[in-house]
Amino acid sequence: MIKTISILIISISIIALIYSLNMDVTVYTALGRSVNNIGLIAQRQIFIIVGCTLLIIGVLAYIAAIFIGNSYRGVEICPACVEKVKATAVVCKHCGHNLDKSRRQVLIHGVDVLNIIDRNGDVNTENLDALSRLMLDGMAEHTPLAILVSYHPELEKIKSVHGIEYSNRFEYLIEKNIARLKGGKSGNNH
Ligand SMILES: [Zn+2]
Repeated sequence: MIKTISILIISISIIALIYSLNMDVTVYTALGRSVNNIGLIAQRQIFIIVGCTLLIIGVLAYIAAIFIGNSYRGVEICPACVEKVKATAVVCKHCGHNLDKSRRQVLIHGVDVLNIIDRNGDVNTENLDALSRLMLDGMAEHTPLAILVSYHPELEKIKSVHGIEYSNRFEYLIEKNIARLKGGKSGNNH
């Protein structure tokens, strides 16, 4: 918006300057001679001054628009108060919400992956079972690997947040557990 207006002002000022510089300031006397007219020269000066002023205003507005645009880049929405915060902020400046924690949280079916394997590497088998069942739900016909692959975006986030070692361990545990659950199911059916 500001950018568009500033470009408009710059365009008008350039047109005014071109017009004033090409302005004919001569008049013909009764004798047919052309002479410079002081009034027209003064008018041309006003045009040039106004044109230059508009050009400066336009350029400054354009620079300001770029700066404002940049300050809005890298902005995120705080999940707690829905206010704008910097993408790199650790704590929300509006409500004090810990953004670092929520950013580093990876949820699958609403389950924080740290509820499956904690930071110490300890596995909570109960939670592992619960999540495996949620992942298996509606996908019982698929292989454990295919089920896992369908969670590709979440697995990529686990890799980026918790590291490749953690991600590999998580995938291994989930795949093995889904295979075990599937095995148990088909075993019951026979
Ligand atoms: Zn907030």
